[in-house]
Amino acid sequence: MESDKEINFDSLTRNVGKFHFGETTVLIPAMNRIAAHLFAATFRGFGVHAKVLETYKGLDLGKKYTSGKECYPCQITLGDILSFIQREKERLGNAFNPESYIYFLPESDGPCRFGLYNKYQRIVLDSFPELSRLKITSLTTRDGYSLAGMLEKDKVLDFQKTGYFSLVIADILDRLMWKIRPYEKEAGMADDFIEQSMHIMEDTFETYGPKKEFRKVLKKLEEIIEKGKTIIDPGIPPKPLIGVVGEIFLRMHVGANQDLIRVLERHGAEVVNASIAEWVNYVSYEGLRRAKIEFRLALKQMRLGAIKFHLKNILEFGADLLYKELRQKQIYRRVESHINVVKDHKISHLENVLKEDDLFSFDIGTEACLSIAAIMECAPGGFNGIVNVYPFTCMPGTTTSAVVKPLVNELGVPYLDTPYDSSIQPGREAAIRTFMYQAHQHYRRHGREENH
Ligand code: SF4
Repeated sequence: MESDKEINFDSLTRNVGKFHFGETTVLIPAMNRIAAHLFAATFRGFGVHAKVLETYKGLDLGKKYTSGKECYPCQITLGDILSFIQREKERLGNAFNPESYIYFLPESDGPCRFGLYNKYQRIVLDSFPELSRLKITSLTTRDGYSLAGMLEKDKVLDFQKTGYFSLVIADILDRLMWKIRPYEKEAGMADDFIEQSMHIMEDTFETYGPKKEFRKVLKKLEEIIEKGKTIIDPGIPPKPLIGVVGEIFLRMHVGANQDLIRVLERHGAEVVNASIAEWVNYVSYEGLRRAKIEFRLALKQMRLGAIKFHLKNILEFGADLLYKELRQKQIYRRVESHINVVKDHKISHLENVLKEDDLFSFDIGTEACLSIAAIMECAPGGFNGIVNVYPFTCMPGTTTSAVVKPLVNELGVPYLDTPYDSSIQPGREAAIRTFMYQAHQHYRRHGREENH
């Protein structure tokens, strides 16, 4: 593929936005393997041709078309789409048509760079003349990741409900894996089992998702959990419990974080990573919080049009958040009757944690809000160590580290920062080993939360 250097700024609005999927193939980045596959299966159930992009195979291309100042997830996702296109062109030859694909790349508002990934990647795609016709569809936090305009009107709400359901089920499958893998009877059993379970769940979502037959999905999940429990060797004693927080892409992408959880497990940990649903709930919570602020301002200034507009937003974001929290609670309640897994905190609770000790403010936004509050909950709450994982130079990740380090020090809980780019740091393994030594000491002295 040959690129040219001219930038077409008009394309940033024309070819990035909400486009009707129609007959195109929707390309989904695999930030988290299970979530991406279940989400794609849900799309397929609703009649959309959805495909998960193979990830981490095109990092060289991602690096070739970035300057090095971009965030690491931007390099990875750019590499994923470019290498997909390269392979498709080889496969299809002259029949390759960029218009038959839509690249699905959500964005986020806020002071960090996530809002710019799709614009930057648009510029790169446009630099290949034939790729200017490949559209980027962009869900945004501004409207709570609404799919309005992408699907037929009568499918939007049902898809949003089922899509959210699939993300929570993906969280549960991940948590099941982290729960059983450190105690598996034979090495590799848990990985094989979760891979098979993911495929079972894909079929389940394709079949039952569109009809919102969530009971059938939950029944399948219960069967999976019961089977998964048989992998646990009851003779292996409990291990130190480690919480992982930080930037969502790096936390979730095992290639990008150099399989951090597995490395921690190799050094004797049982790990719980923050969830995907937590971020999705935060987006709705933040929409509601901002709508309330704008509403109060409009009321003060007696701007009737604005009052009406923000009131509508309050109702919409409020209903969305309520639905998600209730649904998530329902799923975890069902899971709890089979196995103990860590539940997510309500986002309002996390905001209160920050307010109580005046640690940080939701007004600043970004994942630092969630990470700082989660650390302050986990550190004294039965965890034996905390790892903060983020891309090198990530603003929220660095902020989190600066705020929490002195606090966890005071609490005497082992803490480790793990910033990643694509380089292999020679001291990483030693740092993790030392951290895990401290976590074992902490566990010996304080024990751990047995309900986890
Ligand atoms: S959260 Fe960090 S890695 Fe992600 S866009 Fe913002 S600064 Fe970049």
